[in-house]
Amino acid sequence: MIEDAENLDFISNPKVVENYMLLEELGVFNLIDNYNREIKNCKNLLAGAVEIFNKVTIDEILDAAIWRISDRFLPLLITFLWKPHRNREDVVIKNYKNYKLIDIQVPIQSMAPFESFFKKYPSPVAYEIFALQESNLNPKIQKTLEELNPELLVPIIGPFGLYGVVLIGKKMMVEKKALDIGYTPDELFFLEQLMSFLSQALQNNLHYEHSVRDVKTGLYNHGYFMTRLNEEIARTRRESAVSSLMVMDVDKFKNFNDTYGHLAGDRVLESLAYTIKQTVRTGDIPSRFGGEEFTILLPNTPRQTAWLVAERLRMSVSALKVPWKPPLPQVTISLGVVSFDKHTNAAPEDIISRADEALYQSKENGRNRTSVWGSGLLFRIQRTQQEPATA
Ligand code: GH3
Ligand code: MG
Ligand code: MG
Repeated sequence: MIEDAENLDFISNPKVVENYMLLEELGVFNLIDNYNREIKNCKNLLAGAVEIFNKVTIDEILDAAIWRISDRFLPLLITFLWKPHRNREDVVIKNYKNYKLIDIQVPIQSMAPFESFFKKYPSPVAYEIFALQESNLNPKIQKTLEELNPELLVPIIGPFGLYGVVLIGKKMMVEKKALDIGYTPDELFFLEQLMSFLSQALQNNLHYEHSVRDVKTGLYNHGYFMTRLNEEIARTRRESAVSSLMVMDVDKFKNFNDTYGHLAGDRVLESLAYTIKQTVRTGDIPSRFGGEEFTILLPNTPRQTAWLVAERLRMSVSALKVPWKPPLPQVTISLGVVSFDKHTNAAPEDIISRADEALYQSKENGRNRTSVWGSGLLFRIQRTQQEPATA
């Protein structure tokens, strides 16, 4: 269908009208229709790229890709299998059936079976062809793939190889009439391009995560923490909010390492980080400050609440069981808490020093306890009444 104003001008041009039959016979109108369709598809693809690149989290990126695909056609199934860590094998699976996210158990623990195939054929491929070529696939994986019944496998390929694979189901039936005519070359081209944008967006996300996270614990790193502390101080001034900073340090960790070894020590730090992640709310910023020291920035949290959070965390840590042979003794942490608001006229370094002073006080008073910077007698009384710290 010839669209837009320019085309209408063309078609109503008297010379075109005069030579209509000839132009029709030469296929000029069909050609224009085809070009218009291609332009529309390219615009759609570009809009999809912009949308995908503007998303921050992996979930948002995948959702945007899903909606772009469904704008173009309606597959019964879209499943993303992808590898979130370049150096690890684990696979994340997101499965959409009729556009709803469905939890499925897929026994695919590694992308390796797909890696060798897509190295040879780095394009969308009919599942049948993949299954024929990879006939020695692990039977469990093969069975799962057959149950999912994909029509197409589309690779997500980036500079470091295969990031993932998208399984695309058959097209949906419309009014009981099967639209099962397979995917056209145009649609395959669209999918291939969209996936190249998707892989770049995933790659950007991995780089970003890598730049703000500590590798060992998965918590935020020192640099990101400092940036967020600066921002939070500015925000409390601007918005009259009160926020808190908590610092913590593992007690007698040098002894622990000397007795049980650094690997056991590392495992403890990983478990500790996991406990921290479980304890904080969305919006809190838990970081590895360095070594065995951690911080949590708590936006919109007055010191009484921050103290409660600190105590909850301290108790969770002291109950933590880290699987190891031979069994490890319990570790404890000491904590320091400081709050700041628009009246706190202090630089980020001063706020950290205050929290450190409170932490030092906890260490001095026997470890495995929380101290709050600048807390008066009243607060100390409340603290003893509510939750006497155990030495
Ligand atoms: P305190 O209760 O006073 O904090 O005693 P401490 O022994 O924990 O204090 P110190 O700062 O002397 O020791 C910190 C130890 O933490 C030394 C170091 O070996 C250990 N450590 C720091 N980073 C890591 C790490 O990534 N892995 C392991 N296993 N140990 C670490
Ligand atoms: Mg230390
Ligand atoms: Mg320590």
